[in-house]
Amino acid sequence: METLDTWQWQMANRITDISSLRNYVEISEQQAGEIAAAGARFRWAITPYYASLMDRKDVNCPIRMQAIPSILELQNYNGMQDPLQEETQSPTPGLIHRYPDRVALTVSSECAMYCRHCTRKRFVGQPVQRTTWQAIQAGIDYVTKAESIRDVLITGGDPFVLSDDRLERILRALRTIDHVEIIRFGTRTPCTMPQRITDQLCDMLAKYHPIWVNTHFNHPRELTEEAAKAADMLLRAGIPVGNQSVLLRGINDNLDTMKSLLHGLLKMRIRPYYLYQCDRIVGTEHFWTPLTTGLDLIDHLQGYTTGLAVPQFIVDSPMGKIPLNRSKLVELTDDHAVLRNYEGQTMTISCWVEPRLALLAI
Ligand code: SF4
Repeated sequence: METLDTWQWQMANRITDISSLRNYVEISEQQAGEIAAAGARFRWAITPYYASLMDRKDVNCPIRMQAIPSILELQNYNGMQDPLQEETQSPTPGLIHRYPDRVALTVSSECAMYCRHCTRKRFVGQPVQRTTWQAIQAGIDYVTKAESIRDVLITGGDPFVLSDDRLERILRALRTIDHVEIIRFGTRTPCTMPQRITDQLCDMLAKYHPIWVNTHFNHPRELTEEAAKAADMLLRAGIPVGNQSVLLRGINDNLDTMKSLLHGLLKMRIRPYYLYQCDRIVGTEHFWTPLTTGLDLIDHLQGYTTGLAVPQFIVDSPMGKIPLNRSKLVELTDDHAVLRNYEGQTMTISCWVEPRLALLAI
């Protein structure tokens, strides 16, 4: 008999209606109508595990805000369906080739939970052609022919909602390609459904090293014992685990919350990797923050806490990811540079290199 501890149970018992949701949170009749309206436009489903982290009464609970449809999703008009223009950078359905040496292969349109801020809100939860085996094979064929590709990111939706067998079929095919050096997964399951990280999955993944995993925690309340166990299992299988957060208004756009998240991740041995400016996706405007919010956060982290805890602040774009911070380089000449430290103090260092040594360095 399946139990609460299996990912199959979690998937089969996802919350997709108001009456089930009421087992976890209080919902007024007006809120119920709003959830139904927004949920009809953008798919929703929440694992019982993730719902169990919600505050029963607080409508501003950061777990609730990420998972329960909000009427605000229907009240903003400035977002785009595909601001990163992924659809126009797809030589085969579901394969995104934006950078010279790497591709993203979307292998599933399903997720354990449908995050309200999702960049791929346009297709997650929808039955789309790009995630058929035929489409996945077309992507693998493309990678086989493109010898410049050394890095394949397997993404979705969430690839870890696929069975171990399906994932292994993809990995086995990719590992026949000599020029593919590393394979990365983007998955939110360690956060939304940590039961998915099983011994069987880890043993299977470890056969296809080097494998990397990037996951997606946004708030310290997501850093539970179950999540820590999932991360530990991946790490013990030799899989480095990084984290990509999205900066979300009302959820993690203040220093205390962000620090607590980043420090908690390090305690779980997950490396904070990216902090994304929220993409301009239709239905997500209520989460957007000014660019200065992210820049200020980085300013108050760098130097004030362990360097490993500080993610790169990223604005994503059709032209690629753009890391942003306020420059610490005040002045640069052939002879010297003026640098600013984290407390705002400046110092001058010499840049001059004896010409013979400079030539050797070229
Ligand atoms: S798990 Fe990832 S792809 Fe799926 S809805 Fe959340 S952010 Fe989007």
